[in-house]
Formats: sequence, structure tokens, C-alpha cells
Amino acid sequence: MSLAGAAAMQSLMGTKFLHMLGNADIVERLFKPALAGEKIGAICMTEPNAGSDLGSIATVAKKVDGGYLLDGQKTWITSAPVADFFTVFARAGEEKKLTIFLVEKHFPGITVGREIHKMGVWALPTSEVAFSGCFVPDSHRLSKEEGDGEAHLRKTLAEIRIITGAMALGVARAALDEAVRYAGERKQFGKPIDRFQAIQMKLAEMATGLEAATHLVRYAAWLRDSGRPHHKEAAMCKLFATETAASICDQGRTRAGLVWLRDGIPGAALPARRALHADRRRHQRNPETDHRQGGDVMSAVAQGLARPGGPAQGRRIRILLAKPGPDGHDQGAKVVARAMMDAGFEVIYTGLRQTPEAVARMSLEEDVDVIALSSLAGSHLPFCRKLRPLLEANRLTDKLWLIGGNLPAQDHDELRALGFRGVFPTGSKLDAIVDYIRGR
Ligand SMILES: Cc1cc2nc3c(=O)[nH]c(=O)nc-3n(C[C@H](O)[C@H](O)[C@H](O)COP(=O)(O)OP(=O)(O)OC[C@H]3O[C@@H](n4cnc5c(N)ncnc54)[C@H](O)[C@@H]3O)c2cc1C
Repeated sequence: MSLAGAAAMQSLMGTKFLHMLGNADIVERLFKPALAGEKIGAICMTEPNAGSDLGSIATVAKKVDGGYLLDGQKTWITSAPVADFFTVFARAGEEKKLTIFLVEKHFPGITVGREIHKMGVWALPTSEVAFSGCFVPDSHRLSKEEGDGEAHLRKTLAEIRIITGAMALGVARAALDEAVRYAGERKQFGKPIDRFQAIQMKLAEMATGLEAATHLVRYAAWLRDSGRPHHKEAAMCKLFATETAASICDQGRTRAGLVWLRDGIPGAALPARRALHADRRRHQRNPETDHRQGGDVMSAVAQGLARPGGPAQGRRIRILLAKPGPDGHDQGAKVVARAMMDAGFEVIYTGLRQTPEAVARMSLEEDVDVIALSSLAGSHLPFCRKLRPLLEANRLTDKLWLIGGNLPAQDHDELRALGFRGVFPTGSKLDAIVDYIRGR
């Protein structure tokens, strides 16, 4: 989404007015490098009191000798912290109508302010931008006449609506693909869940919604490209495609119990996934509660969302304690397992002679928070080198990876570089291991 957003803002909102209205110098010096990705443009419409209602824009441009002085405050400006130039909507002329100006980042009087931290689209920075007596030369008034800004803006907003609809299609497509993939892989009652009619119906509904939204977006884009009126269709396609994308994400998550959530919502996703797994286990233990599953899943998701980054509320820290390699005994591992259980953690102990494949599989299946290896045989480095890509492939990189046992000091750095953040050589205190896990 960040990449799509960056492309949309740069190719339309950030550069369109330079292309349409800029003089030769502006086109050569700013527009062409922007097309090549060498300069970045931003657009400044929104203000603290002018969001949907752009008629309330209060930034003013006062005419002075050779140019204008801009005063006002803009907010929610995409790419502002990295922008080379800004297309700014301000009120000018006797009637104080919307007029378009181009401000370069080195002009005195422009300040890029506080960065706004968003829930998503993190690779695309957003900031406030302030203008205080910012001098803009006449050559940088993009409007041919004072006050023609509103008509230009209306046309461009229709285009960005079509692009927003297209971006929503991308989100919906990714969510649906992941839902279909998971439903084909996930087996319950002896078969993949996509063989159950209820799941098929849901996936069919999602696919149909996506198909309809795709046609609507393409139709609006075709109208625009062929020079026909398209304002109504642009608004419709944005409305329908964004609602459809949200619904597909939502249904993929809740109806099929899909692990799609794993990467879907930054921060909130992982605990929500754990909560879904935890919920499933509870129902397996008590089949009589099956009819409450929908409500429980939702409450589990809500609990997970409430605690981004940690295990779901009401659940103990779950640790896989694995004993790799051909070791002859597992006394040490058992002592560590006991200490972890005494500390209140839930421990799943594998027993002896686990392979990297088995450790990765169990870590995923058991939905653990911590993957701990107890190693004695001196095979720790080859084992960890093999295990790491398997854990990565199963998207288990957010778990805490630990290793303990007979680990020569010269190997510790490589173990940490491989992702085993906690390295506990023989003789480490049990309390230290427990505290380390709790602390993280
Ligand atoms: C990620 C992001 C990037 C952005 N990038 C830029 C940018 O680069 N440049 C820029 O200028 N702006 C940018 N914006 C601002 C964006 O254009 C505004 O958020 C948008 O115009 C809505 O304004 P608002 O957030 O103030 O909401 P408001 O206008 O306060 O609306 C709040 C709610 O009330 C509803 N509402 C408002 N008026 C009515 C009405 N008449 N009838 C019914 N419901 C109504 C809205 O639909 C909305 O649900 C960005 C916003 C976001 C979230």
C-alpha cells in the first residue's frame, strides 16, 4: 500500500498541476525529474479546519511586488518530510478564491512540521506544513488566473478517487488470494476446509464482490481516459471498492478463522492470530461450546487487538522447548522446563533428537511465543543454520528464539546473528532465563 500510495501521489496529486499549468522552467527543473523519480512532490489542500469541506480552506496568499506572501497551516500532507516541492491551495484576489501555487522546499517561510504517525502505510511519511510570510514569486502561481483553483481541484479529485478504488482492489485481491490459499491448506475433519460448502460460499461471495468492484473501477477509468463525464462513476467506484476491500479482509479473517490476519494488520495482527488459535483449542476441548464460536472468535480478536505485540490476554507465555540432535540424555532440558513451568509459563517439551524441520513445524502448530533449544552435542551451529530459514519461511521471526547448553563462547556471536537472541551457556542461572523471557 505504501508503494501504491507513493506512486499515486507522485504521479497525480504531486505533479499534475505542474504538468498542466507550470511554465517551461518548472517543467524542466521540477516536473521532469519528478517523473524520473528524482524529485518528490506533495499537495497541500487539507487544513485543521478544512478536510472534506475544502471550501473552508483558510490559507491566504497576499499579493505583493513580484509575487505573493502565503500564510496558513496545512495538515495530513503525504510525503511532506521528503518533498522537494509543494502544490498549495490558498485564497487570493479580491474575492479570496482558491488559487494554486508552487512552493519549493528552500523558499523562506515554509516549515515542515510534526510527523503524523498513521496506523498503516508507514513507508509514506505524512506531516503538517506551515506557511508564514512565505514569498512565492509570480512565476510560481500555477493558476492562470486568481481563483481558478476550485475547478482544477474538482477534476483532479475525481481522478484520485479512481486511483483509490484501484488501490482498494489490490488490498482485496491480496486478502482473497491469501484466504483461498489458507482454506486449501488448512485441514479439519480430515479434509481441507475449502471443501466445506459454507467456506466455498463465503469465498465465492468475496470473489464476486472483488469482480464487481474491478469492473466498476475499470469503467470509471475508461470513462476518464476517453474524455467522458466520470465524476459520478469515480465516486461510486471508490465507495464500492473500498467497502468491498474492507469486507473481504473482514470476512477472510472471521468466517474462515483464517490466519490471514497474521500479516494483515501491523502490530495487532499477531496477538489476534494467537487468540484465534487459543480459541480453537478451547473449542476442541469442549465441543458443546461450538455454537458460540463466532462470538468467541470475535472477542478473542478484540482481546488480541487490545494488546499488540504480546501474547493474547488471559493466555500464558507458551514455550517450545526442543532438544535437537543426537544427545544421549535430556536432564538439563528437563530442569529448565521445570523452572519455566514453575515461573507460570506453558511449556511444550519435544523430547530428544528433534530435527530442524520438526522444531519449525511444532513451533508453528503449537503457536508458541518462545522457541527454545537445549543443545549439548556440539551440533548447535549447523542445527541453527538449518533451522533459521525454516523459521523464517514459516514467518516465525517475531518469536523469541533462545538456545542453551554446551555453547562455546566463540559461537555466541554467530548464534545471535542467526537470530537466537538469548544465548545461555551451561551454568546460566535458571532465574536469568526466566527473567529474560519475561522481559521480552
Ligand atoms: C493517509 C492520508 C493521507 C493524506 N494525504 C493528504 C495530502 O497529501 N494532502 C492533503 O491535502 N490532504 C491529505 N489527506 C487529508 C484528506 O484529504 C482528508 O483526510 C480528507 O479530506 C477528509 O478530511 P478529514 O480527515 O478532516 O475528515 P472530516 O472532513 O472531518 O470528516 C470526518 C467524517 O465526517 C464525514 N463527513 C464530513 N462531511 C460530511 C458531510 N457533509 N456529510 C456526511 N458525512 C460527512 C466524513 O466522511 C468523515 O467520515 C490525507 C489523509 C490521510 C488519511
